[in-house]
Amino acid sequence: GRAAPARFGTALEALHTVFGYESFRGEQAEIIAQLAGGGDAVVLMPTGGGKSLCYQIPALLREGTGVVVSPLIALMHDQVEALTRNGVRAAYLNSSQHPGDRAEVERAFLAGELDLLYIAPERLNTEGAKSLLSRGRVALFAIDEAHCVSQWGHDFRPDYLALGELAERWPDVPRIALTATATEATHREITERLALGDARHFVASFDRPNIQYRIAPKAEVRKQLLDFVRSEGRDADGNPVSGIVYALSRASTEKFAGYLAQHGVDAMPYHAGLDAETRRRTQDRFLREDGVVIVATIAFGMGIDKPDVRFVAHVDLPKSVEGYYQETGRAGRDGAPATAWLAYGLQDVVQQRRMIDQSPGDLAYRRRLQSHLDTMLALCETVSCRRQNLLAYFGQRSEPCGNCDTCLEPPASWDGTIPAQKLLSTVVRLQRERGQRFGAGHLIDILRGKRTARVEQYGHDALSTWSIGGDLSDSQWRSVVRQLLAQGLLQAKGEYGVLEITPDATPVLAGERQVSLRTEPERQVRSERRKA
Ligand code: ADP
Ligand code: ZN
Repeated sequence: GRAAPARFGTALEALHTVFGYESFRGEQAEIIAQLAGGGDAVVLMPTGGGKSLCYQIPALLREGTGVVVSPLIALMHDQVEALTRNGVRAAYLNSSQHPGDRAEVERAFLAGELDLLYIAPERLNTEGAKSLLSRGRVALFAIDEAHCVSQWGHDFRPDYLALGELAERWPDVPRIALTATATEATHREITERLALGDARHFVASFDRPNIQYRIAPKAEVRKQLLDFVRSEGRDADGNPVSGIVYALSRASTEKFAGYLAQHGVDAMPYHAGLDAETRRRTQDRFLREDGVVIVATIAFGMGIDKPDVRFVAHVDLPKSVEGYYQETGRAGRDGAPATAWLAYGLQDVVQQRRMIDQSPGDLAYRRRLQSHLDTMLALCETVSCRRQNLLAYFGQRSEPCGNCDTCLEPPASWDGTIPAQKLLSTVVRLQRERGQRFGAGHLIDILRGKRTARVEQYGHDALSTWSIGGDLSDSQWRSVVRQLLAQGLLQAKGEYGVLEITPDATPVLAGERQVSLRTEPERQVRSERRKA
């Protein structure tokens, strides 16, 4: 085949002519130079940082076609369309494509008529695709969402493992791996598994200073969400702003969207169970109009380039800090102030624990999911700066930010040693009753001395810890349970979220270790009490 000729002499010329931007951002220029000069690169950059130009421009500077590996098949079409509008000759190959269209793309590639070719990893791993690429000229390989190669991460895709072989088959073609996930472990795995030992590494700051992080305990979550949307939902001129609300299940996206809509918010659900036409219309409205609020499962937003999303809200606990960071990162890509708000409760922990136990995969895999959940929980319960905690998770040091809820209204803490001892020793007593499934609710009933049917059935009013916790309300006890879970003194096990103590609880029970707990904001505690 023939090689697509280089389109531009310099990177800046391509930036101006094709993309219409004035100057490069951050390390874009260095990354582009590295690749254009034939070297490899590993790029860790937050969502919205501008990763795409890092391979699109080198592809225009080098002879041949830039091959972009991306797992997000649903987005390929949009990406290619946007490039084509800018005069870039781009196409994609994936399994959802009509065979006739595929043949045309293959022909164009071999004729040297493509600057960029997007391809799904499972397709690239076929001998047919590799042989096609060998017959044409590849300018570079870009491996997008490179964290998918990490078996420890939250997004593992087996097809990514085979991408390490690109180095052997095309030793002279520069490769760039890009991701918005930046733990040190993931970084190491990307470098090793994708054979990027000689690459230059570009690690951008993961701080998104314009995003204000806020995390609240769940009380009446629909009402809390509505209050939040009402308080954040208008700009300085009083016009409604765009936002995304994330929920874990399809049913709850419908439920929350319905509730918001009833109360005058222009809200719509979005999930994989809706037909393609409805999804497309919803997405279009969100992109083109102001003031649309999408209530979605996490799939929504991947690769959606809407710079002025003013808030991202979570009504369910995200499964990992990485996921939380990526989802909240969809807010404020234009740099203007934006808010990330999350409400979570004990029920989230129990429900996710159940999902982990029911998930396919071996014990090591489930442990990994559990540890992702634990770090997410720790972020929720921290009494120090949320941003500091978040960035520390990505291996980046920072000072308290002044723009998160714990910085703005430092949570008071109290000495929770005695309640912790009461609770932990009740757990120890229940743990002795093998084969029983007692969750947090029953535990709190015992502490508060409620004579429920279950309490009577098991004779738990005879326990020595029966009724020793009447000084705290139900919601205060729930908060103690959550915080002990987050501090690793308790763990929720099995399908039913059965609570067990961890080895770290022993010194607390022995009176050798103090437990400090955060005081929940009074407003939430009160409304939860009303409900209870
Ligand atoms: P990422 O893939 O890192 O999430 P994108 O490549 O989608 O980010 O870029 C995010 C947004 O920033 C896009 O709208 C993109 O066009 C814009 N952008 C990227 N680089 C620049 C630049 N140098 N100047 C202005 N805008 C840019
Ligand atoms: Zn802070």
